[in-house]
Amino acid sequence: MPLEDFAAEMDRCSQCSYCKWIPFDQVRSWRFAKNCPSVSYYNFNSYSARGRYAVARSLIRGQSGYSDTVRDIVFTCMTCGSCDVSCKVCRYNLEPLEMVRELKFRLVEDGQGLEAHRAIIQSLDREQNTMQRPRSGRGDWADGLDVRRLASEKGKVLFHAGCRLSYDEDLQQSARAAVDLFRKAGVDVGIMGEQEMCCGGRIYAMGYREEFARFARANMAAWARAGVETIVTSCADGYHAFKRLYPQLGSGVQVLHTVEFLARLIQEKKIVFRLEVPMTVTYHDPCHLGRQGEPYVPWDGVEKKIKGQIVVYEPERPRYNGAWGVYDPPREILRSIPGVELVEMERIREYSWCCGAGGGVREAYPEYSQWTAGERISEAIATGAEALVTACPWCERNFQDAAGTMGEPMQVYDLVELVQKAV
Ligand code: SF4
Ligand code: SF4
Repeated sequence: MPLEDFAAEMDRCSQCSYCKWIPFDQVRSWRFAKNCPSVSYYNFNSYSARGRYAVARSLIRGQSGYSDTVRDIVFTCMTCGSCDVSCKVCRYNLEPLEMVRELKFRLVEDGQGLEAHRAIIQSLDREQNTMQRPRSGRGDWADGLDVRRLASEKGKVLFHAGCRLSYDEDLQQSARAAVDLFRKAGVDVGIMGEQEMCCGGRIYAMGYREEFARFARANMAAWARAGVETIVTSCADGYHAFKRLYPQLGSGVQVLHTVEFLARLIQEKKIVFRLEVPMTVTYHDPCHLGRQGEPYVPWDGVEKKIKGQIVVYEPERPRYNGAWGVYDPPREILRSIPGVELVEMERIREYSWCCGAGGGVREAYPEYSQWTAGERISEAIATGAEALVTACPWCERNFQDAAGTMGEPMQVYDLVELVQKAV
């Protein structure tokens, strides 16, 4: 939807600032009550959802133009979606997340993208990954694994490793562990190996809509050639792209995150735990698996006003308020591992604080990105947990880096690693 179509929303934003906090009935302490990393870090209203509505309105009315400050205001948004949940729960049925995405698209289309992001797009065109690494090494993480390559064979279940897990040598073992566990559970899973391409989710969040669509169509064509019916991924960004964005371009494959699939296999007793993992852990909900992990609901309606004042949608518009994201499967898995004790942080499920790696922020604003991760590590430490567990390699990477910089002994794991320790 073009940015101008959000004009009524820009006027309807009441400037109430609920979007800067988790809903007040969820607040447990002042220390962990905020929800928006950008306004918390930059401490200036323009860096909030409310402020970005005002900036966008000024731009579309021609009252202001582009500047380095405007670019920073737009691209420091992690598109984590926390403001969106708070606005919907506490205030109006506005779409601040969709609006800021459109704002990013507009800046990129007008040649106002960031240099750090352009370098990624160039690498993507050349090597088909966001890690600026050679395409030829994409499948190396699976060397020695007895798993079929669906680039040349047919198969119904495809494990998509994603850019981060394919190339980050410190994290690759969790991709290998996931495939290993699926195979031991009798699942006939395959991979694309060297032929796997970026899902496009991260470049979409940076504002590169057309490039995203190109990768989405290429991936869907590759799946169709291989006869794929189910995609499984351990990457929350990939999950969101496949589950929420691809259906808008016609995809009909089933999408599962690894934690959803593992929870099902554990329940069916196809994966059985034999070993204890004595550890107190806390779980971080990745934004794109949690509040943004809700399934796509098609809507082709119109906005109307009753008596020129009350806004209604015909037919009723889907309301993505984060409540239907993937929250229970990872917690069920953790509670079922012998020896693991799960203690919760203050901001959880749809009210989770972002890891700081989203929206192209890790690549363009590293200090702010690491501060955001550090805030979450402080919240994890406050629970008394000895390990922070998550289900996305981007979160894991950012947390590991921040814990190292902070000198904190907090261990960081992908959930799959704990499952593998227990079988
Ligand atoms: S909560 Fe919604 S209505 Fe209130 S200031 Fe934020 S974006 Fe505007
Ligand atoms: S998406 Fe996240 S970073 Fe962006 S305005 Fe909303 S809460 Fe802040």
